[in-house]
Amino acid sequence: MIVVMQPGCKPEQVDHVVQLVRQLGLRDHVIVGTNRTVVAAIGDKRNLDTSAIETAPMVERIVPILSPYKVVSKEVKIEPSVISIGKFGGLIGGKKVGVIAGPCRVESKLQLLEVAHAVREAGAIGLRGGAFKPRTDPYSFRGLGEEGLELLAVAGEQTKLAIVTEVMSVEQVELVCKYADVLQIGTRNMHNFGLLQRVGQTDKPILLKRGWSASLDEFLLAAEYIVNEGNRNVIMCERGIRTHETYVRNTLALSVVPAVKRRSHLPIIVDPSHGTGHAYMVPAMSRAAIAAGADGIIAEVHPDPEHALTDGAQSITPEAFKKLMPELRAIAHAVGRDL
Ligand code: PEP
Ligand code: MN
Repeated sequence: MIVVMQPGCKPEQVDHVVQLVRQLGLRDHVIVGTNRTVVAAIGDKRNLDTSAIETAPMVERIVPILSPYKVVSKEVKIEPSVISIGKFGGLIGGKKVGVIAGPCRVESKLQLLEVAHAVREAGAIGLRGGAFKPRTDPYSFRGLGEEGLELLAVAGEQTKLAIVTEVMSVEQVELVCKYADVLQIGTRNMHNFGLLQRVGQTDKPILLKRGWSASLDEFLLAAEYIVNEGNRNVIMCERGIRTHETYVRNTLALSVVPAVKRRSHLPIIVDPSHGTGHAYMVPAMSRAAIAAGADGIIAEVHPDPEHALTDGAQSITPEAFKKLMPELRAIAHAVGRDL
């Protein structure tokens, strides 16, 4: 349920409601909006007596949350969330469109720094790169591990880009937090509820990729797992879903962008690389994503895609990225956004 406070309520009156919510064994999330403060009370409230809350000072009304997801829903917070990534001022959401780019995988210092400088100059705010790679084939190389994280941290400092990298297990969370600015949850882990809860206990923004067979509700409920642990900084990411089609690696479901925006206050970005599997499609789908209202894109960029160790076919060159950025900027401006 949502406890809607009257305009002009005092912090101690909100605190009082929070105490009453906790006494009922429910979890509280205070959301201070531009017009209203609300206290979302989450948990099983069957057979609970909420009369003490209803009559508390400055409580206007109690309303049930109808959607299956609660704290990520627009019913709780109408204004779009703006997520700050890294320490160099990068923002995603609201008016701000943010672009994250980099190689699929950290391969070497030279490769990473070359891409990092190039995407930074073109206007990216985040550097992506996998140090721990989820591989469908257990015999393929699974990344440089901590050495890869160290290289990412060096590149981030040099270029003032926020570092976005995947964390694959609960055991890796502490280590990845030492180096990363944003923790990426990959498509294969969107249903890993233990991992979602664990990253929900960190103070890092989370990039949550949609499971390749996840429905919209499952995608939003995965975000709910994270936010319910206290971490409100979740960026949703559409990366394509599995369909019968074979001309693409995945089918990029851009219609999920307005669907998420209708239901949730969380920002959503689009991954046109995994979402298509083909470099030639990446610019067109990036442009389409921003036109559809996405809050950004995350794209794979490699200095030598032909020799990339992973995902070369869907990686664009730094030159292609440099050409793409002004196009995205023009589209962002056309739809009333900043990039
Ligand atoms: C990636 O971003 O490199 C990746 C493995 O993505 P996904 O989890 O969407 O496949
Ligand atoms: Mn990849």
